[in-house]
Amino acid sequence: MYEHIVIAGAGQAGVQAVDTLRRKGFTGKLSMVGDEPWLPYQRPPLSKKYLAGALERERLMIRPAQFFAEHQVDTQLGRRVSEILRREQRVRLDDNTLLAYDALLLATGSRPRSLAAPGAELAGVHVLRTLADADRIRAECAPGGRMVIIGGGYIGLEVAATARGLGMEVTVLEMAERVMSRVTCLEVSRFYEAEHARQGVRIRCNETVRALHGDSGRVRAVLTEEGGEHPADIVIVAVGVAPRDELATGAGLECDNGIRIDQHCRTSDAAIYAAGDCANHFSPHYRRRLRLESVDNAFEQGATAALNLLGIPTAHDKVPWFWSDQYDLKLVIVGVCQGHDTVVTRGAAAARSFSACYLRGGELIAIDTVNQPKDQMAARKLIAAHARPDPDKLADAAIALRDTL
Ligand SMILES: Cc1cc2nc3c(=O)[nH]c(=O)nc-3n(C[C@H](O)[C@H](O)[C@H](O)COP(=O)(O)OP(=O)(O)OC[C@H]3O[C@@H](n4cnc5c(N)ncnc54)[C@H](O)[C@@H]3O)c2cc1C
Repeated sequence: MYEHIVIAGAGQAGVQAVDTLRRKGFTGKLSMVGDEPWLPYQRPPLSKKYLAGALERERLMIRPAQFFAEHQVDTQLGRRVSEILRREQRVRLDDNTLLAYDALLLATGSRPRSLAAPGAELAGVHVLRTLADADRIRAECAPGGRMVIIGGGYIGLEVAATARGLGMEVTVLEMAERVMSRVTCLEVSRFYEAEHARQGVRIRCNETVRALHGDSGRVRAVLTEEGGEHPADIVIVAVGVAPRDELATGAGLECDNGIRIDQHCRTSDAAIYAAGDCANHFSPHYRRRLRLESVDNAFEQGATAALNLLGIPTAHDKVPWFWSDQYDLKLVIVGVCQGHDTVVTRGAAAARSFSACYLRGGELIAIDTVNQPKDQMAARKLIAAHARPDPDKLADAAIALRDTL
């Protein structure tokens, strides 16, 4: 049994590891180092209810301060782990103090990709990852204000929906041919494009940002390669995230689109584990490596890493899932659709309640559900069981998903 476990990163995966370690009887020393000044908090509301002003800051916290005190966690907040000294089994913090570990968990998350365009440094240009980012954006939102969102992924679209609710004029610029193209099929993309248009958002696909123009140091317009000029009082850059694997690469751990871990969340160093957005794992279900950016994945991997740290051999082999809230639409994605050869839709987009089922060689590998909790719950079991539904039954929304085999 380890005596001192150090967790780098005080986020979703880190707090889940703490919870599991203590619940399963870890009595040794537990330190959690986080470079943000707050206790671990939920990020999903930052683009939704928190940005809308409908959720108080305290409600974001994953666990109250009391939890960390009761579980005797040495929380070092506002402190960054700057280096891993593997041979000595110590980490260096940004104030140069050294912390010895018997086992280390890297739960450092991801960071927003930046925009490589002139003017990206102007005031009024924001990314959205942290509570501080959300506060800055919220302070610049005002009814009638013009917001340009660069990137039509789920974060960009959630911000668009929230900003419309705040009375802003919103334009979304997407360089691909359709929104959310990385995670969903054409039918679902078109449905969301139509919904945003109906809500008054201008969605512009096939537009690539060329430059941002400013006035006295503040952004005023976004210019595109295609000749578009979009006036802006505030710009949100939502062009994806990159894993925060710099500590791992600096320490010579194997990394490739994130920190490579085995099924037990162990890195190429047996005393170092990784979990969450920063980790790249092998999925036995999909028979390939995946790096996922979701609460579910951070939660599951944080728990799996903790069990293995406790000496309880546990393999991470879950069908992932993810959700996105835009207006009154709840999109839940179960599984990973990449590699599908057929899409079967169930229900009617016009009724704002439908599902897109992804098949590969007849096997159900993923589903996107829009306001369809029943399909979503049934699909989890079917996907995990490598089920092969009958496509005709699948297309008939009157037949329950579990009865389509
Ligand atoms: C605006 C927004 C909306 C989202 N909406 C959804 C949603 O609807 N559904 C969903 O499933 N997912 C959503 N996500 C994604 C989800 O929040 C992440 O996948 C999840 O937070 C990942 O957890 P994590 O523990 O890996 O990383 P994080 O929660 O990011 O925690 C990592 C922490 O480690 C800190 N850190 C990094 N490096 C160091 C270091 N060297 N030393 C100390 N600390 C360090 C980071 O600053 C951060 O605080 C959303 C994310 C954002 C930003």
